[in-house]
Amino acid sequence: ADLAVLDAAVTGCRACPRLVSWREEAARTKRKSYLDWDYWARPIPGFGPPDAPLVLVGLAPAAHGANRTGRIFTGDPSGDLLYAELHRLGLASRPESVRLGDGLELYGVRITDPVRCAPPDNRPTPAERDTCRPWIARELTLLRPHVRAVVALGGFAWQALLPALAAAGWQLPRPRPVFGHGARVSLPAADGGPPLELHGCYHVSPRNTFTGRLTPAMLRDVLRTAARGAGL
Ligand code: SF4
Repeated sequence: ADLAVLDAAVTGCRACPRLVSWREEAARTKRKSYLDWDYWARPIPGFGPPDAPLVLVGLAPAAHGANRTGRIFTGDPSGDLLYAELHRLGLASRPESVRLGDGLELYGVRITDPVRCAPPDNRPTPAERDTCRPWIARELTLLRPHVRAVVALGGFAWQALLPALAAAGWQLPRPRPVFGHGARVSLPAADGGPPLELHGCYHVSPRNTFTGRLTPAMLRDVLRTAARGAGL
């Protein structure tokens, strides 16, 4: 199967009852400013070319962000910052992502989430994280011939990624590497192929950016380092 097939397949998943009802309830109730939107209200596939050497991994869609627009990190402050910085680094065709069909392109970067449906309070349960893991594991397996660097945006992404990376064919060091902003670990490929650089970066959520824990410059530094390491 190729990535387009996988992306289409994930949008039909209903494996987590709590998340299915949350994503659909958000679409019914809507936020006042989005009353004229027909919410996507389904799982969010990854976004970006199938031969991307750099992969960014977040947490889960926001109920009124990607769950509304249908594109990952699109329609909320987290995504506004992320796409602006990607554009600044020459990795996106435009500084903002508005909605599906807006023509935005990513260059050499794929963005994905370990949990594809919007969770209450932005907090998936460990069981939901584990139930969703095969989707990202399959995605990473398909991307593997090209991927040289992965950026985990936040500790949740880091934790969720490690077993998915192992399932996709990279070896995890022991003890398992610990998340931190600026953390960097090289994972050898199990088949002797090129290694993968795993980078840690604080999540781009308003909780981190409004408090100054993560500044745009800090985000840019990690993205630039990871992009250069990936040959971009
Ligand atoms: Fe399916 Fe993942 Fe959504 Fe659960 S979170 S319903 S596994 S796509």
